[in-house]
Amino acid sequence: MKNVLGLRCIECKKEVPAEAGTYTCPSCGSKGGIMDVIYDYQEINRLTTREQVTKSRDNSMFRYLPFLPIRPESARPHLRVGWSPLYKPLGLAKSLGMSNLYIKDDGQNPTASLKDRASIIAVIRAVEEKAPTVAASSTGNAASSLAGSAAAMGLKSVIFVPSRAPQGKIAQLLIFGATVISVQGSYEDTFRLSAEAIERFGWYNRNAAINPYLVEGKKTVALEIAEQLNWEVPDWVILSVGDGCTIAGVWKGFKDLYQAGWIDRLPKIAGVQSTGCCPLVDAFVEDRPWTPKEEKTIADSIAVGVPRNPDKALNAVRESGGTMVAVSDEAILEAMRELGRTSGIFGEPAGVTGTAGLKVLLEKGVIGADEKVVSIVTGNGLKDVQNAIKAVGEPIKVEPSLQELLVKLEGKI
Ligand SMILES: *Cc1c(COP(=O)(O)O)cnc(C)c1O
Ligand SMILES: [Zn+2]
Repeated sequence: MKNVLGLRCIECKKEVPAEAGTYTCPSCGSKGGIMDVIYDYQEINRLTTREQVTKSRDNSMFRYLPFLPIRPESARPHLRVGWSPLYKPLGLAKSLGMSNLYIKDDGQNPTASLKDRASIIAVIRAVEEKAPTVAASSTGNAASSLAGSAAAMGLKSVIFVPSRAPQGKIAQLLIFGATVISVQGSYEDTFRLSAEAIERFGWYNRNAAINPYLVEGKKTVALEIAEQLNWEVPDWVILSVGDGCTIAGVWKGFKDLYQAGWIDRLPKIAGVQSTGCCPLVDAFVEDRPWTPKEEKTIADSIAVGVPRNPDKALNAVRESGGTMVAVSDEAILEAMRELGRTSGIFGEPAGVTGTAGLKVLLEKGVIGADEKVVSIVTGNGLKDVQNAIKAVGEPIKVEPSLQELLVKLEGKI
């Protein structure tokens, strides 16, 4: 990997070589010491150019291979991850009173969430590091995604999920052949147990926060947004936040492009959580260190009371000059309805939380109606049908009789 110079600790700034098995800062140790992958941008520009990428027929995130911490010759699963559509949904824009709104629909990944961008890097690196088994704890999507990528790569997977994970995600895990451990406790309990087991068994660790390579996969969503907008950077990118790895990845992607000289400015990043679990929004708004919170929201993918990547997430928002906001579960259900009805896009609750936050930031005047905004839908609604039904209610039930149908439809269409 000539493109990778090493890893840099986000706390003490120490730089270490990018060796197999090194994930966190050896100096900061148990205090955290989350690392960033650092690149040789000249080398990236020797390996490829903006024009070359624009012409690429690789319709996946691997069109940006020189920006990724994997060896070009490494085996890759056949799944098509990334290169999800960037829509300009006029109905939604109209309903929000906006003129320049885009939706990046990352529910259209192989296992239906943005997490696939990270999981595919995890399995590629697991094979590079000769690990036969990969493991993770997850609120659901990182799990189903890792299981899918592992299956495609011929690896075993062991997955820890909190017992509250929606059925759709559990079904995915089992279909992909994972060993599924349903932990009767919170996500925090789940994470802790998985960390202990990973240490004990020596599995490849996909836990996103401490594995710096996974954020690199997630950053490809930003590279795609830039390319799909013809390298003209939006004013804002808005998305939901749980552990904070995704928002950190988005920011890293734009920064890498900027440092490589492929874009000439950076967007502001807005992070959105549910009021039922918003430790990072509170820390941002009150400008203080984050404190743990209860996990009380229908948006299970971002019900993270103890975020694993808080500093990278807060740095992303602050460095970009962005903002954070919390929205109620009712507003999240409303965003599900609105995206579906105006645009034909079906997101899971955490998938549309960014869009719910956009509405609030427009109302507050933080985001202007004419600004160019990309809202990322991070996961597909079919993963969590129960909450979707909660958002929209039940269908019209009729006996198979036209007469009854006419009665029931009266005033409805
Ligand atoms: C994981 C996830 C998020 C949040 O990502 P973090 O890295 O935990 O902040 C948002 N939406 C969906 C659908 C997710 O699966
Ligand atoms: Zn350090």
